[in-house]
Amino acid sequence: MNNEISIAYFSMEIGLESTIPTYSGGLGVLAGDTLRSAADAGLSMAGITLLSRKGYFRQRLDAQGQQSEEPVNWPVDNYLLPIDAHAIVELEDRQVTVRAWRYDIKGHSDHIVPVYLLDTDVEGNSNYDRSLTGQLYGGDAYYRLCQEAILGIGGIRILRALGHTDIERYHMNEGHSSLLVFELMAELTQKLGDSKTTSEHIDQVRRECIFTTHTPVAAGHDHFPASLAHRVLKQCKPFRDYAEELYCDNELNLTHLALSASYYINGVAKKHQETSKKMFEGYQINSITNGVHAYTWASDAMRALFNKKIPDWREDNLSLRYAMSINNDDIWQTHQRAKRRLIEYVNKTSNAGMDQSVMTLGFARRATPYKRTTLLFTDVDRLRTIASHCGPLQIIFAGKAHPDDTQGKRLIREIFRIKEALNQDIRIAYLPDYDMEIGRLMTSGVDLWLNTPLPPMEASGTSGMKAAINGVPSLSVLDGWWIEGCIEGITGWAISDTEQQTLDTTLGASSEADVLYSKLENIIIPMYYHNRDAYIDIMRNTIAINGSFFNTERMISQYVSKAYFR
Ligand SMILES: *Cc1c(COP(=O)(O)O)cnc(C)c1O
Repeated sequence: MNNEISIAYFSMEIGLESTIPTYSGGLGVLAGDTLRSAADAGLSMAGITLLSRKGYFRQRLDAQGQQSEEPVNWPVDNYLLPIDAHAIVELEDRQVTVRAWRYDIKGHSDHIVPVYLLDTDVEGNSNYDRSLTGQLYGGDAYYRLCQEAILGIGGIRILRALGHTDIERYHMNEGHSSLLVFELMAELTQKLGDSKTTSEHIDQVRRECIFTTHTPVAAGHDHFPASLAHRVLKQCKPFRDYAEELYCDNELNLTHLALSASYYINGVAKKHQETSKKMFEGYQINSITNGVHAYTWASDAMRALFNKKIPDWREDNLSLRYAMSINNDDIWQTHQRAKRRLIEYVNKTSNAGMDQSVMTLGFARRATPYKRTTLLFTDVDRLRTIASHCGPLQIIFAGKAHPDDTQGKRLIREIFRIKEALNQDIRIAYLPDYDMEIGRLMTSGVDLWLNTPLPPMEASGTSGMKAAINGVPSLSVLDGWWIEGCIEGITGWAISDTEQQTLDTTLGASSEADVLYSKLENIIIPMYYHNRDAYIDIMRNTIAINGSFFNTERMISQYVSKAYFR
């Protein structure tokens, strides 16, 4: 079992399978897709994450769209193998025992990338400590810092307990795991027989660490008051020796810790690189644009079509460019099969009475203000008029709000209110408990994927890439990956001033809604209903031009050549 591991990939969340609730959203899905492509590529890599025994949460929505949350109790031992390795992590004056479970990700040629899920629910730990690997993004700052010590410090120690002493690279997917830097410094200090940790140790650790930042949103960057950090990490010697040099504004900032200890730092799209440069002055920030795992996200129908027309697409995503030679009828019929599955699911779960022949828009993302879930409803009357004049529309939504995000929760209620108001004219469904399975159904089954974030907040976004693999065009604000993926009228459409599509164009919400409406009204809906061949051309282009590029096969090969082993 002890196959060699040369890259350890740390992530607070990893989307292993839809029903394993160890992810909350895009970050975890990306981590899962990354490791799936690492397994395909035969890389000697391992993933490290928390067990999240209670998951993130199960979303319930009442008739008014009021969200409530329930813990997810999932049968851990049905999915994971217990492994015989333990580690101790010191939190305050306590010794917390950490054990691990293993999940194997198998690549297309059976190469395995193991994922270790850390678990403190171990006899001998206090009840509180047993709960530390329970809830993803739950609890208060103290709970979070303890979790992050388990992930970073405990993660390294579990790897050592498993015999992985020759790891060459440590990849921090977001800053949550950056306390691992202290553990690497402690190991080095001990190895060299030094009595105190100094900046020379961090210089050496830096030769091994990679950091990927994922969000320009401040809440996405964990920081803790120095007093709290000193309390929790009081037994962590490198922290005590070195803390003063790391503090910013009398806080321990895990993003800054990751930045200061990594030789390669990247954002997740070209625009995000620019945004991150401004946020983190003094660091060299690179960019590797995100992708999705093509096989995972292609619908069953699309997989079958690709198997027939592009037999090696799964091992060689670049060959998706040959989708250019797939004929219109095949593209359309395949999409209809994926659409039928979605419509059946929607009608069964929400009784929405949706119709296979009606143009269907999809919007699924975390319900939070910057994602602007309701931009499409800026002028409800205008939308109603468009649907009655240009051709009928139906719209499918999904997405959770973080339990503490009252504004996000209000957005869901707002969609429910509009859903009632528009019901005679435009059918709307809000699918509860968005997960990877619903994500796959939606991105493959709708006719148009919509994304309306407030620039520059969307670091990348990946759901539109899933849509692209499935031949579903996007209509989106020019932010994140869509700046790179949008070729107007070829792969989809931009919600921007078409006259001057520069990277810095920001329009303000009302004129963005105006562009959104006018493109639907004048270009997209008429093309869908009256110039179907032109619409199918765009569907084909999304596969050939974007599906062949915005995948994690391309992404992981860029990490290998630019970051891991440059
Ligand atoms: C793909 C996916 C996401 C991320 O999509 P974005 O476009 O980045 O919002 C989030 N949640 C689930 C369940 C997904 O499948």
